[in-house]
Amino acid sequence: MKLNDRKQRLLRSLPGVDHILELTKTIQYFETVPRTVLTRSIRTVVENLRIDILKDHHDITEENLSDPFIIESVKNFTQKTLAPKLLRTINATGVVVHTNLGRSLLAADALENLQVIAGKYSNLEFNLTKGERGSRYSAVEGILCEISGAEAALAVNNNAGAVLLCLETIAKNKKVIISRGELVEIGGSFRIPDVMAKSGGILCEVGTTNRTHLRDYESAIDNNTGLLLKVHQSNYTVVGFSAEVCLKDLVDLGEKYQLPVMEDLGSGTFIDFSKYGLLKEPTVQESVATGADVVTFSGDKLLGGPQAGLIVGKKDIIGQIKKNPITRALRIDKMTLAALESTLRLYRDEDVAIKAIPTLRMLTLPIKQVKKKAQQLKKRLDKIGGSRMQIELVTLTSRAGGGSLPLLELPSLCLEIKMQDLSANAIERFLRHNSPPIIGRIYEDFFVMDLRTIQEDELPLIETAFKRLLEKA
Ligand SMILES: *Cc1c(COP(=O)(O)O)cnc(C)c1O
Repeated sequence: MKLNDRKQRLLRSLPGVDHILELTKTIQYFETVPRTVLTRSIRTVVENLRIDILKDHHDITEENLSDPFIIESVKNFTQKTLAPKLLRTINATGVVVHTNLGRSLLAADALENLQVIAGKYSNLEFNLTKGERGSRYSAVEGILCEISGAEAALAVNNNAGAVLLCLETIAKNKKVIISRGELVEIGGSFRIPDVMAKSGGILCEVGTTNRTHLRDYESAIDNNTGLLLKVHQSNYTVVGFSAEVCLKDLVDLGEKYQLPVMEDLGSGTFIDFSKYGLLKEPTVQESVATGADVVTFSGDKLLGGPQAGLIVGKKDIIGQIKKNPITRALRIDKMTLAALESTLRLYRDEDVAIKAIPTLRMLTLPIKQVKKKAQQLKKRLDKIGGSRMQIELVTLTSRAGGGSLPLLELPSLCLEIKMQDLSANAIERFLRHNSPPIIGRIYEDFFVMDLRTIQEDELPLIETAFKRLLEKA
């Protein structure tokens, strides 16, 4: 096919890569751009223009092919390439354990310890008393037992890994009995039936979605049964005509038939949240005291530590788990271990834990204090917004998030923002592209920021972002 004249003319004016590269040598900005990034960027920009011409994009003109225009495109392209991808972000959603925004923030102690252990040599696998090789798991085993009351403990990379590891160790090629109401799917395609299949355990679901009785478990037990499993319905609740078997009854049943009982708590907690006016979540201590052989839970959900999978339970089972080669594949790294140990140490005094661990602090933050932050931010924004921006202080609800406390509605204070000449969507988009990004939500035609999850030192950053918004948009 013959190219039309316009296309041919445009293709002829497209500069070569070497020509552009030569030009960049005279521009200061490009001095700090690594050569490889620069040449790759120029190639991509020129190639994209060629494709646009061939596709007959009508908005391409000779002007778009001029040197200054291409240099500007290359500059933008390198800036995008060189910008870091993982960014500190302001959480204005009110969801405390926000899975997409990094779940839990570490306590100051944990951050400090993390920095030291990561930047220096440590006794990670060295027994200082004996002067010989030691186990990395010993750093947190003692304190996990102390807090939970368990005989033994182990920490791995995350709770999904902990569940897989436990099932593979205890129930490979054996029947695992679980209620139909507990076949949980959490985010990121973690589904109990799939994890079970990967572990080699044979799923044996009993009861119905809404009601499962002890007799359902009992009548499913046979010679090949290896485990009774209870999974906490972390991110949903069955209400109405429903019945589930409590852990105590499962433990008694396990004793009767000499079968181990495992409970996956998901977002495990050491703190009874009902004391703080929140909904009750089962605590790790309760599961241990009730007699579960193994209990698994996350390090970075309600616990407020780093990403980790924690396993506590009876000595012989934990011993078997430690010997499983999969443990090596899921092993916890030293940075996590450092942050985890420091976080766990805070739990020795519950008042200290509530104050020092950000997840706990935000969840239990009195509404009065949320209101104070909201008023401070409103004042700052009113000052810069003038009549262009309409800001209301409203009471809405925050959520715990992280697949925990699904029914919990925490009253919180939010700022609802409306601008005369800008839609809520446009405000949301602008702030999402801010540095640092600010993630809020849209409610009707307002942009909403929930102050429960906004840290005090972030108020000036939000003010600056709105200043930019008012100038640019
Ligand atoms: C969240 C959750 C998991 C997975 O924990 P991660 O720490 O995200 O790996 C497993 N089981 C339940 C019930 C959960 O809620």
